[in-house]
Amino acid sequence: MSTSADTHWSTLGCTRRALGARSTCYNPADGSVFTRHGRGIWGHLGVFRSVVADHPLAVRGECRASHRGSSRSTPRTARASRDGGTNRQSSTETSSAVAKASARPGHSPGTNGPGGGWRRDGGCSAGRKQRDLRHRLQAPERPMISYQLTRYGQPLERTQTARPDPVGTEVLVQIEACGVCHSDLHLRDGFFNMGDGKRLDLSRGRELPLTLGHEIGGTVVARGPDAGSVEVGERRVVYPWIGCGSCRTCQEGQEHLCAQSRALGVTRHGGFSDHVLVPHPRYLFAFGDRPITLACTYACSGLAAYGAVRKVQSRVDGRPLVIIGLGGVGFAALRLAQAVTTASIIAVDVEPKTLQAAAETGAAVVDARADDAARQIRRLTDGGAPAAIDFVGSETSAALGLGTLATGGLLVVVGLFGGQLRTALPLLPLRSLTIQGSYVGSPEEMRELMELVQTGTVSAIPVQPRPLADAQTVLNDLRDGRAVGRMVLVP
Ligand SMILES: [Zn+2]
Ligand SMILES: [Zn+2]
Repeated sequence: MSTSADTHWSTLGCTRRALGARSTCYNPADGSVFTRHGRGIWGHLGVFRSVVADHPLAVRGECRASHRGSSRSTPRTARASRDGGTNRQSSTETSSAVAKASARPGHSPGTNGPGGGWRRDGGCSAGRKQRDLRHRLQAPERPMISYQLTRYGQPLERTQTARPDPVGTEVLVQIEACGVCHSDLHLRDGFFNMGDGKRLDLSRGRELPLTLGHEIGGTVVARGPDAGSVEVGERRVVYPWIGCGSCRTCQEGQEHLCAQSRALGVTRHGGFSDHVLVPHPRYLFAFGDRPITLACTYACSGLAAYGAVRKVQSRVDGRPLVIIGLGGVGFAALRLAQAVTTASIIAVDVEPKTLQAAAETGAAVVDARADDAARQIRRLTDGGAPAAIDFVGSETSAALGLGTLATGGLLVVVGLFGGQLRTALPLLPLRSLTIQGSYVGSPEEMRELMELVQTGTVSAIPVQPRPLADAQTVLNDLRDGRAVGRMVLVP
């Protein structure tokens, strides 16, 4: 475990506060609205991505509608096979009900049934009602305990459902650890703060109950007949940013950007449970001898850092890289950039201890509170950097990042503090500047990251294991700024 990261894990909120950003928040406990500075409103792009896909302004239609029917064919076939072919009528009824349900706007059949959240038999409303009734009348033989979001803004509820049997390519993972992310807070509350008092509704198109949690690690305990080479007993981290698999974006390996997101813990059942159903073994990654409570965090916070570093990697070898905001993700990116590039790094933050820790890694440091911070950065970068990464995402931090770029430079924005970037438009063409967002990472980037993890290249971040039964308390601790390191639920 990295001592420096251990000491300076939770400084991102302070960074934002001191960088002058603030936002209006909603307290679901009493319905009050208040202004919050920094801490506790960090939301990563996992939620944002999903929200944008559901947002009225989003451009939709990348995914072909026809894939819906085909994606359900495997479970139906598998069920008919298990029933010895005697269940054809009920399969047809299910199919018909699904077709009707599909015709309703905004309805996603089979999204969040107790069967693990993937498209399965009985995923339609009719099938689900039958199954729910059956569960109420008869306790499942192999119960699955989950802590689910049943109403926005309300505490998670403990639920008991039947443990699903994987079909087709599905894999059932017994969860050993699931990290808790600030985006889980936004999902629970049902909105995302866009800055300037504006909110983005997270509830639209999302079916409850939903099991949150997207940093999942565990052991394969069952597999469908088409699940390839994965074996029962293998311990894996789950890549949660799953797409439709059919659209052009998914076909190009960018599932995390799919407009029809099926991300575990975001639109499908995730890891605040003792089991999770993963649709395909390609989403499972080995993690070597790392503790699973640490390894699971690479699925979100680690991947967000790595995805950003990869975007600047080709520009910064032997040249300056400015990293703004050294909270958990930013500090991880600092260590990753030092591991996979030869860049000279300028670390920018507002916390003296954080800056000291960054300096101890060999980075040059600049206190963002200094009046001449931009001038210091330009001096350290010999007039401007080819790239900067903003892990805060506030108006102030993004403006600072843009101001540090050399001609032809790239600003990557990862943080989601909120606000609006105002800049002189002629500067973009005249200085050939690029602004790019970065959202977690692709399956290929996850593979690269986990290879680095297994070789010991990636520094550990501090984690705090907590019992799964404390899921709601952990969310409250995160909201109230009482988190120490990454809190990880352990069933
Ligand atoms: Zn996350
Ligand atoms: Zn897709």
